[in-house]
Amino acid sequence: MTNPPPTNLLEDAAADAGFAAAERAFSIDTATLQQLLDAVSSASVGAAQTAAVASDRSGTAGAGHPEAVVYAHSVDDVVATLTFANEHRVPVVTRGSGSGLTGGAVAGAGEIVLDLSALNEIRDINPVDGTAYVEPGVITADLDRAAAAHGLFFAPDPGSVELSTVGGNIATNAGGLRGAKYGVTRDAVLALDVVLADGRRLHLGPGTVKGVVGYDLLSLFVGSEGTLGVVVGATVRLLPRPVAQATAAAFFDSVATAARASVALATARVRPSVVELVDGKTLGAIDDLRGTDLASRGGAFLLVQTDGFGALEEIEVVAEVLRRTALSVETSDDPATAAALSAARRDALPAIEARGWALIEDIAVPRSRLAEAFEGVAEISTRTGVEIYAFAHAGDGNVHPIILVPGAPGVAVTTVPPEAQAAADELFELALRLGGTLTGEHGIGLLKRGWVEREVGADARQLLREVKNLFDPNGILNPGKAI
Ligand SMILES: Cc1cc2nc3c(=O)[nH]c(=O)nc-3n(C[C@H](O)[C@H](O)[C@H](O)COP(=O)(O)OP(=O)(O)OC[C@H]3O[C@@H](n4cnc5c(N)ncnc54)[C@H](O)[C@@H]3O)c2cc1C
Repeated sequence: MTNPPPTNLLEDAAADAGFAAAERAFSIDTATLQQLLDAVSSASVGAAQTAAVASDRSGTAGAGHPEAVVYAHSVDDVVATLTFANEHRVPVVTRGSGSGLTGGAVAGAGEIVLDLSALNEIRDINPVDGTAYVEPGVITADLDRAAAAHGLFFAPDPGSVELSTVGGNIATNAGGLRGAKYGVTRDAVLALDVVLADGRRLHLGPGTVKGVVGYDLLSLFVGSEGTLGVVVGATVRLLPRPVAQATAAAFFDSVATAARASVALATARVRPSVVELVDGKTLGAIDDLRGTDLASRGGAFLLVQTDGFGALEEIEVVAEVLRRTALSVETSDDPATAAALSAARRDALPAIEARGWALIEDIAVPRSRLAEAFEGVAEISTRTGVEIYAFAHAGDGNVHPIILVPGAPGVAVTTVPPEAQAAADELFELALRLGGTLTGEHGIGLLKRGWVEREVGADARQLLREVKNLFDPNGILNPGKAI
């Protein structure tokens, strides 16, 4: 039986709601707003015009509609927007492509959306330094494709690579499938150009591989979810594109067995780039969507990829480890076969979303506790009767329990039903009990804010707020989010 959230957490959630409401109690009149519209190159006002940029992929809605959306076409547009907003105390919600899953880019009445999607130029690729300088609105996969022309690649590859922006990846410290070997977005960021709340421009990080001058403000910005400043340019790390890739696909009787097999890889002197695990329930959803027969082959699916010189030798070691407990293991170094095997993993979320509205969670635990995490998710689902699917970036202990909220597929549910929220709370409790975290890669946004203090403690939470106040004393940058 999972313990209910402690009382102080509930009190904190109530206090938080008040804090967020106070942060959001801004208003702006038409004449004042016109000053902003005159100062920037492109903007729209009105409910119809702002509706498309008022929410993110979580489907969370703000109260009312934003006052305006500014489409930045230059850094000057960003500076003009923030200078105006700071002077008139108007909240600004920065937006990449809105693929976020936690309500981070949600905006409502009294707020301005700052859309960076048109700032999407890859300004420079330097193969010798292994760097690229990009504007924030560049689509993640576009950067990777551009890097490929130089024999390089951009390692962060969230499932949303074709949708998300590099600026959004930086603001959420996005992870991805290749995280098992190449880490998260923070590992790929060498320098940032940001605009602060009062319109000042700042360059953070030396842009070199090494550097130890002062506190690490660069890292502070990565994962700050638009609450400290706006990222307007980034020097990111590019790596040599692997010369070869090999894939192992294995089916297991249960998700716990598959999780233990993935953990066994950690001590097998191999370093896979991808270790992805899909539970049986999700396999059933993929079968429904794609007409495949994955669920009949086992209760869980594990996809492992190795890359670089020796990829094939490495995958043979992987396969040997998996064969100890798997029902079946198949390997390939053919890119087309690898793409077909990977498709099952990439289809996981769309397949669940085809069954209803998905509340996508993102807990992360130490790799050694992965099997317990999956067992805990299943136990919560069985006991509460709430339908929960699960798949994981198993290589880095990041489990996505997906709570299915009954409803028409594709139709956002504006209020999370209490039983679904209660199940989500239990998932967070499970993550913390296993020595993990609420969110491995999606961030806190609006949806998980009530749990921040529970994870970091009151003193650290207070410091987070003081840091926010230092950068944004008037509280205009994405108020009510992240901390
Ligand atoms: C199908 C699907 C699969 C996904 N898979 C993954 C995955 O594997 N791993 C993962 O980590 N995420 C994943 N995501 C979530 C999402 O794509 C990431 O969080 C992504 O980094 C968000 O980028 P975005 O450009 O859409 O940002 P948005 O959603 O627009 O914004 C996200 C947050 O960043 C802030 N922000 C955006 N741009 C800037 C900027 N330039 N400066 C300052 N703040 C900014 C916003 O204010 C907001 O708080 C997935 C989403 C979907 C829909």
